[in-house]
Amino acid sequence: MTDAATTKTTALRELPSVDQLLRSDAATRLRQLVGAQRIVTLARTVTEAMRTEIRADKSGNGTQTRDEFLKHAIKRMETLCAEDVGSGLKRVINATGVILHTNLGRAPLSDAAREAVAHEAAGYCTLEYDSTEGTRGRRGARVENLLKELTGADDALVVNNCAAAALLIITVLAQGGETIVSRGELVEIGGDFRVPDVMTNSGTKMIEVGTTNRTHLDDYRSALNDQTRLILRVHPSNYRVVGFTAAPTLAQLASFAHEAGLPLYEDAGSGALADMSDHGLGDEPVIRDCVSAGADVVSFSGDKLLGSIQAGLIVGRREIISRLRTHSLYRALRVDKLTLAALETTLEAHRRNAAFAELPTLRMLAMTIQEIGQRASRLAEKLEEQFPNHGFNVSMIDGFSAVGGGSGPNTHPPTTLLAIEHPTLSADEIEKRLRSSSPPIITCIAEAKVLIDLRTVTPTEEPEILNALSRITS
Ligand SMILES: *Cc1c(COP(=O)(O)O)cnc(C)c1O
Repeated sequence: MTDAATTKTTALRELPSVDQLLRSDAATRLRQLVGAQRIVTLARTVTEAMRTEIRADKSGNGTQTRDEFLKHAIKRMETLCAEDVGSGLKRVINATGVILHTNLGRAPLSDAAREAVAHEAAGYCTLEYDSTEGTRGRRGARVENLLKELTGADDALVVNNCAAAALLIITVLAQGGETIVSRGELVEIGGDFRVPDVMTNSGTKMIEVGTTNRTHLDDYRSALNDQTRLILRVHPSNYRVVGFTAAPTLAQLASFAHEAGLPLYEDAGSGALADMSDHGLGDEPVIRDCVSAGADVVSFSGDKLLGSIQAGLIVGRREIISRLRTHSLYRALRVDKLTLAALETTLEAHRRNAAFAELPTLRMLAMTIQEIGQRASRLAEKLEEQFPNHGFNVSMIDGFSAVGGGSGPNTHPPTTLLAIEHPTLSADEIEKRLRSSSPPIITCIAEAKVLIDLRTVTPTEEPEILNALSRITS
């Protein structure tokens, strides 16, 4: 045997066995964290990986002692356990300035919603129970009533998300028949909501009319036949056609549909419960206006501009909502008690006209550049005071936040950004270290600077940012 081969054989003999690893004190501790079965798998993974590495190492530097190998293996097991436990959902600080950041969970819940989820709904609750009468109650009745009040619709229903709402509505109203939609509205939203796919899944034949930029009532008219079941209008959300464009108004389309004896469904996407043009979101359909313009059924998301939890909110004519509620698909798409609890408190805030004061999404949207600028300069001062040796070069620059979540693609609220540089650390390295801190701090990079937009950071998170920054260079 060659020297290298001898060293390898010796090294392989000194490797700890799975059993040895499992008998270590560390394994006993880790077993509490991940369970008995998982720890066995991890011990096998680690020993196998080490064996493969020694075999593959042609130079044969496996000169560690039995003890060193064991320590090394335990360390690797600990790392794998930490990765496993840490890979689940965890809180992050969103310093990107994107308010409805889909990857970061879209709308943050209000204090009242968190309270309701944790204290009213998490245990037993009156989900389908009327505690005054002692009889069975209807799931979601209160949320439905609030939605009726806030939108002026006859009735309302809540499902898992807006995609589920579209699936349910089109299935119930148009399965086996045809649905007419403008070519200007065949949009894809968020990577996996595509209008043509929803049509296919709902078992309706999609009839496209008009062109990308211009569609007229006559285009709809010429597509009518005895198979037509539904007229669909989709708010293009994250996409705008500008310039030479035309489309009938919702009211015109509604009269047209009703003359033809067909229902009109408006997928409003984000939608808004009140006019948002003061905040640059005049393009977002106001749900009450959709209803009064004659849409027979309207859907919108719970976790976009409504500022609540993931849900698909449906409002519309009594007869249609009742067909949706009694269809077997509804049972598969309905929401749970936690969702209803969060929605209830959010809708109550809208009803009290307190949405901009109480809902983080709307508060962030309305935050002025002056307020953000003051917070940014105070944070920079505190960094100097508390960590004078931080070593960063911190400046304040003008920039823009974003609404996100497919809402208001042209709305960019002006903001003041904290721009962070370091003489020896690259922006990529700073960004990575902030992202690896606990909780992870998510930032953007532009022109070799790490940018922090406090619009989407709560004041209670600011000390966490300071601490994370100080730890990077200490
Ligand atoms: C966002 C959006 C959807 C999908 O909503 P989810 O609640 O994310 O399922 C559907 N339609 C439109 C027009 C949208 O903007």
